[in-house]
Amino acid sequence: MLQYRKGLKEMPAYDGTDKFYNIKVNANECNLPMPPIVNERVMNRLASVPFNRYPGEEYYNLTEQIAKNFKLQPENVFLGNGSSEIIEKIFYCFGGNKAKKIVFPDPSFSMYYIYAQAAQATAVSVPLENDFTLDIDKFVTAVNDNEASLAVICNPNNPTGGVLSVSDIQYILDNIKTSTCFLLDEAYIEFYGRSAVSLLKEYPNLIVARTFSKAYGLAGTRVGYMLASQPIVEMIGKSFMPYHMNSLSLAVADICYQMRQEFVPHIQIMISERKRMAELLKQLPGFAVYPSETNFLLVHVNDQPGLVELMEKNDIGIRYFSQDNAWLKDCVRISMGTREENDTWYGLMKAFAEGRG
Ligand code: PMP
Repeated sequence: MLQYRKGLKEMPAYDGTDKFYNIKVNANECNLPMPPIVNERVMNRLASVPFNRYPGEEYYNLTEQIAKNFKLQPENVFLGNGSSEIIEKIFYCFGGNKAKKIVFPDPSFSMYYIYAQAAQATAVSVPLENDFTLDIDKFVTAVNDNEASLAVICNPNNPTGGVLSVSDIQYILDNIKTSTCFLLDEAYIEFYGRSAVSLLKEYPNLIVARTFSKAYGLAGTRVGYMLASQPIVEMIGKSFMPYHMNSLSLAVADICYQMRQEFVPHIQIMISERKRMAELLKQLPGFAVYPSETNFLLVHVNDQPGLVELMEKNDIGIRYFSQDNAWLKDCVRISMGTREENDTWYGLMKAFAEGRG
């Protein structure tokens, strides 16, 4: 019998295997190809990456660029393999035993539960209201009553798409204890546009996590980062291995970040597709659409299993939630594809709603 660490057996596994669907709108990725002018620069840059060296310059260049953009110092920035690695490490650093409470809304990013468990901390969830909005007073009370080591909010929220305003975030920061670290996961912020990064100067217990996976379409490259006060960056940084990032990904993200204006039209296309599809879906009988400020829509469907079966049959991947999930059992989450892809899945959903599917 192998002697694994305590708790590993009970830990749920994240099923990362993904089918190669003809239309893939299940993972909130960007379905648009990299702008050609960026792609050309990326390819040229990759040709000069020194494979024999550990990543140093590439790491520093991207860190410095990000810091400059936010009018911060490089000491306020830490890069990771996707924001996943960053978030997992933050949970680890504020966990360590069951007495450490990590508070976050539910439903929210499903990985928060797994990270809390992996960190051997206690996850405390704050249920969203029936319309999937967050009561910020309830959240503050849960954080304070539990003397949370870490409070987490995903804004805009995955999988609901809902948002808090910057003043809501500030209200939370003003009302939780300064001994609680507050992680704001802004994975989808580019589709909303109202970041709380400006609050970093005032609140030394705030961390903002960002990713290149969504708006920049670099999900396969695995680059994310956190912004925080220098003492937090130093402490969280201790949990990473030396040279945890690879030069190739860093070089790609560096070029994309330099050329980030080229991605603005993409972001606008995804936002306008989301608005178009929300309006269309709302009109279908048996479908209800939640407000979203992201690149995806959460949709309540009367016959969710029937719709999922139809999509699978047509080689279209949408994200669906298990019938055991108390909150989301009749819901599907659809990320915005190209206009043509969206027209295709919508056509099938329309036929389904009208009883022709
Ligand atoms: N946060 C949220 C809310 C997400 O939805 C995701 C990806 N689905 C991540 C973080 C992690 O993204 P990545 O590791 O690709 O940066």
